[in-house]
Amino acid sequence: MAEKRIYLSSPTMHGEEQEFVKEAFDTNWVAPLGPNVNAFEKELAEYVGIPHASALSAGTAAIHLGLKILGAGEGDVVFVPSLTFSATCNPIVYEKATPVFIDSERDTWNMDPRALERAFEKYPHPKAVIVVHLYGTPAKLDEILEICNRHKVPLLEDAAESLGSTYKGKHTGTFGKIGIYSFNGNKIITTSGGGMLVSQEEEYTKKATFLATQARDPARHYQHSQIGYNYRMSNITAGIGRGQLRHLEEHKALKQAIYRQYQAALEDIPEITLNPLGTDGDANCWLTCMTIDSRSHVTPDMVMDALGEQNIETRPIWKPMHLQPVFEGYDFITQKGSMEKGGKDESVAADIFNRGLCLPSDIKNTAEDMEEIIGIVRKCFGR
Ligand SMILES: *Cc1c(COP(=O)(O)O)cnc(C)c1O
Repeated sequence: MAEKRIYLSSPTMHGEEQEFVKEAFDTNWVAPLGPNVNAFEKELAEYVGIPHASALSAGTAAIHLGLKILGAGEGDVVFVPSLTFSATCNPIVYEKATPVFIDSERDTWNMDPRALERAFEKYPHPKAVIVVHLYGTPAKLDEILEICNRHKVPLLEDAAESLGSTYKGKHTGTFGKIGIYSFNGNKIITTSGGGMLVSQEEEYTKKATFLATQARDPARHYQHSQIGYNYRMSNITAGIGRGQLRHLEEHKALKQAIYRQYQAALEDIPEITLNPLGTDGDANCWLTCMTIDSRSHVTPDMVMDALGEQNIETRPIWKPMHLQPVFEGYDFITQKGSMEKGGKDESVAADIFNRGLCLPSDIKNTAEDMEEIIGIVRKCFGR
């Protein structure tokens, strides 16, 4: 086995991060709040073009607080795509609300507006709709927003994977009532761990910061009239984020170049299709994924095994939430309506999962690394 490991998507640091962290140490501003937190919020908000942001300990924490702020609780339904990472929908259950999973469409792999319409027929009054921009590709926001507005239901955008992606010239994460980003280790920029909640409305980000700092009432003594959380980002973490943010555009360009290289190198193999980038935006290409034609004798496992043997990291497509044991009891809506339990699964989400895999998309991969990966993939298909 090759000694050097080729990663799916690992942190890429630049040194500037350390300067912000050093400053925090030098001023002994190691404890929670501090200048880096405020500056990181301001700088990220400026970058995506939204007035307000609240820096938090994780993207998951941001989704959790976002749902709380939108009022989702026991007895409420929340629409959420099935094809996503579990962190998108776990917070719905933290709040004892009920997730209803929505199928994907093929143009972007994201929430299908037609399935969303069907969901509204069955559940006319959900508390919120969560949309995800999977692997960095913007969802069909015009269609989805039109439906949400018509039904007067707020949209929460999980842009954890799509920081830097734009839709019709505007950043993903800024379309909904609330948007969230993640700075987890494998995301396009990282703070080792962290998240951000953004909004056009200051009231929402203020509420998020309040709940994230133990919900202390403005009184000298420790008084609480609500249950709070310890979800705030630390000043050290925010320092890393400030350094990383200065390289986000560069990371995006490199990720896009990786996608284009795979595209050019695999174009002649008709069984392979890369993940869609959508036609109305500029996707950050966080991960390049591929699907294999169902008539091919090659399976995603075969490709992942062949790469794994050479110490090259891959990952399956997110396993849809409607197929997860923990979410077994919840409804799943496709274009055809509610999917029957135990019936034949003809969903788009399951099909993408069954035929897909994520290719190494680490921006530190060298030209030789890319050549090696591409060579192995081609060999799987007898090229
Ligand atoms: C990473 C991710 C999250 C969670 O972010 P964390 O910062 O790891 O908590 C949520 N949703 C999606 C789609 C993600 O990929």
